Amino acid sequence: MKNLMRNFLWFFAIFVAIAAIFSLASVPAKPVNQLSLGNLVTEINQDKVASVAVDGNKLEVKYKDDKTAEAIKEPGQALSEVLSDYGVDKGKLANVAISIKDSSETDWWLGVILPFALPALLIGGLLFFMLRGVQGANNKAMMFGQSQAREVSKETGIKTTFADVAGAKEAKEELMEVVEFLKAPKKFTDLGARIPRGVLLLGGPGLGKTLLAKAVAGEAEVPFFSISGSEFVEMFVGVGASRVRDLFKRAKKSSPCILFIDEIDAVGRRRGAGLGGSHDEREQTLNQILVEMDGFEPNVGVIVIAATNRPDVLDPALLRPGRFDRQVILDAPDIADREAILKIHARQKPLAKTANLREIAERTPGFSGADLANVLNEAAILTARQNKLEIESNELFEAIEKVMMGPERKSRIITENEKKITAYHEAGHAIIAHFLPNTDKVHKVSIIARGQAGGYTLKLPSEDKHLHTKLSFIEEIAVLLGGYLTEKKIFGDITTGATSDLRRATQLARRMITDYGMSDNLGPRTFGQQDEMVFLGREIHESRDYSEKLAEQIDGEINALINQGQIKAQKLLDEKHDALEKVVKELLEKETIEREDFEKLMA
Ligand code: ADP
Ligand code: ZN
Repeated sequence: MKNLMRNFLWFFAIFVAIAAIFSLASVPAKPVNQLSLGNLVTEINQDKVASVAVDGNKLEVKYKDDKTAEAIKEPGQALSEVLSDYGVDKGKLANVAISIKDSSETDWWLGVILPFALPALLIGGLLFFMLRGVQGANNKAMMFGQSQAREVSKETGIKTTFADVAGAKEAKEELMEVVEFLKAPKKFTDLGARIPRGVLLLGGPGLGKTLLAKAVAGEAEVPFFSISGSEFVEMFVGVGASRVRDLFKRAKKSSPCILFIDEIDAVGRRRGAGLGGSHDEREQTLNQILVEMDGFEPNVGVIVIAATNRPDVLDPALLRPGRFDRQVILDAPDIADREAILKIHARQKPLAKTANLREIAERTPGFSGADLANVLNEAAILTARQNKLEIESNELFEAIEKVMMGPERKSRIITENEKKITAYHEAGHAIIAHFLPNTDKVHKVSIIARGQAGGYTLKLPSEDKHLHTKLSFIEEIAVLLGGYLTEKKIFGDITTGATSDLRRATQLARRMITDYGMSDNLGPRTFGQQDEMVFLGREIHESRDYSEKLAEQIDGEINALINQGQIKAQKLLDEKHDALEKVVKELLEKETIEREDFEKLMA
């Protein structure tokens, strides 16, 4: 629409310009001497005239002294006739050069054709431009069918190798096989082995799925195609499928190669579970992927690596033999892996001798590879901003917290009163976390706003944990309620600062009952199925596989668990009131207490 508008404006401008030129042209450039025919004849007879040019009815007279004049004759009469009528001397006339300009044709063009032709031309031009615009859009629609996969060819080469991927030992071993297939397929086909067509990488965001896929291509020195599942799906039905076809065609041309499909769950969701039109499109796309994978002649050497963090929603058809029959699971890195990842990313960064990556690894349980890379990057930025040349521990610690909770917001203005409330709230969390035996250690307490939180109490497990006990969950609930209960106890009132604490406590209690079977009364079972109902891209449905009566009981159990946590927390707060006041005093003075100071304070 904007284009059209612009075209119109252009045409308008051009039109005005042309009109201006014409009106200028039709005004005589300079006044000329008008001459009557009689005078002309007299002058010819006096031998003054050098030439006469006939232009239609106009006679352009040129004198011997280079002056000019103009005369008009009657239309339809020849010049010689006219002149002799006026009694010209034939002998003198012979000395005058007479030329006939045939301007009648240009006149005709200007006078007759142009008034019609110009608007027609303008309209034609306008149409042309408009059509061209439409065609452009059409062409774009044609391009839709082509996949937008990014390709790294063999010549450019992928530089990533397994050496760039820390940890993930099992995954690397599994993928090493794929590398060997790609490097020496014959070794395997000679033995009648079928080369796998697809590998599925399962793991949360930032755990290095893309990195691993690239490393496979890098190790095998083959081209690498990558595309994201969501790029298949467009507004138009059929586009996804045609993109899949195009992509596989391209890949086959440069086989052996790796074809990496990120977020395959975007198209590979279980079929037949959803509402809405986009869903059909997804199914078609998925079908096309399946068809293409089945349709490989065996051993063409295109290996599809797909990544997802939602294996539970994948269509079972994807996982059948001959498709993604290999599945590689990526776990969150443990402490040794984290140290190794940090080492890899610290290669290009000048670390101070005092900075200890092991210590950073200890402080970052649950961090993914991407988070760790981010920590080092943030630390480098912090260091640069302080004009230091080496990254020290302090910057690294600061970076961890920044990655965990967003940047500190020291400038957020809080009143003295709010500061006091926040101090009591955080001290409440910290005291309970410290004195309950099964909770994580307090690493830091702060009343400086960070990210969304007004203040925070940072707890970190002393080791990586894979299993959690019911007791540790109840104590966790107690810690979460600590802030709320302290506010209530000290100020006799409650603020909105505890909202997210309460929500987390409730969610935790619910999962304990519905997912972990931690209720004494309801027995060892789970409640609710996370069914896939996709509507407007969001799952809105959790199907109930239990009765109304049980639902009521579940609610009761959840309340009971929260109550247990509350009793624990309340008891501790009453017993350790002095410790609480100490923490609050320190917080109001220093705003932040680190672990060592906190433990000294508690001792
Ligand atoms: P995913 O595809 O699983 O979301 P990526 O492969 O894109 O994750 O990882 C993002 C970044 O995190 C990588 O570019 C890399 O810098 C870093 N990273 C993740 N895992 C590792 C690892 N095991 N070793 C080294 N770096 C890693
Ligand atoms: Zn809180």
